[in-house]
Amino acid sequence: MIRFENVTKTYPKSTRPAVDGISLEIGRGEFVFVVGTSGSGKSTMLQLIMKEQDATGGRLSVAGRELDRLPDRKVPSLRRQIGCVFQDFRLLPNKTVHQNVAYALQVLGAPRSRIRSTVPEVLDLVGLAGMEKRFPHQLSGGEQQRVAIARAFVNRPPILLADEPTGNLDPGISLEIVQLLDRINRTGTTVVMATHDFATVDAMRKRVIRLDNGVLVGDVEAGEYTTGS
Ligand code: ADP
Ligand code: ADP
Repeated sequence: MIRFENVTKTYPKSTRPAVDGISLEIGRGEFVFVVGTSGSGKSTMLQLIMKEQDATGGRLSVAGRELDRLPDRKVPSLRRQIGCVFQDFRLLPNKTVHQNVAYALQVLGAPRSRIRSTVPEVLDLVGLAGMEKRFPHQLSGGEQQRVAIARAFVNRPPILLADEPTGNLDPGISLEIVQLLDRINRTGTTVVMATHDFATVDAMRKRVIRLDNGVLVGDVEAGEYTTGS
């Protein structure tokens, strides 16, 4: 589903690569944690996958597309294959829970009948049934992140990327959010989650990829935060 072949990303004016010669494969349906200290290249790796940044070396293939050869006009179709969740939720503050999720389908031109049937299904899946009419400021952090996950998943993308999704949440809530990502993963969606949240990584026993200064220094099946190297 995702293949890095000696991928490097050096930002303009930077002297050292943010991602440095990474090679790895993430298969369809995998759940992978990407760990490493702040500045180790986790966000850059996710941004390369969604082509928000372009690699400066190597080859990267995502959902059957070679990203270095993907014309700009095909980037929207790549992005439809990828749901994204962030630390700061990024909900639309003036829209309700229902509208935040429905909007993701509206921009894809989905018919109103499909939106009306799909949004309640996905809100039920993330445990927010009954909260459709609330606004983001009326929700806890964990609930807001559930809305963001519903929005990222409502189009059933084959890939879900999560960049520090538990970074603003208390430990117990963080575990619930990762368990929700695990449930989404079990529907067949490939999940890649960048995190420094060692407690949830250790609780889940998934594949752990570790970056250090942009270099891949560990890749362990059923790993723990500290054994990722
Ligand atoms: P992490 O997500 O692990 O904290 P990042 O991918 O955000 O790591 O950052 C990796 C390195 O790239 C850091 O040195 C960071 O300062 C640098 N970096 C990240 N984004 C940019 C950018 N847009 N422009 C220049 N440098 C960047
Ligand atoms: P994260 O916690 O996800 O790693 P950061 O705080 O590192 O996020 O970065 C937040 C935003 O700032 C990102 O969009 C990243 O690309 C950008 N950024 C990070 N480091 C730099 C940098 N040195 N120069 C310019 N932009 C940067």
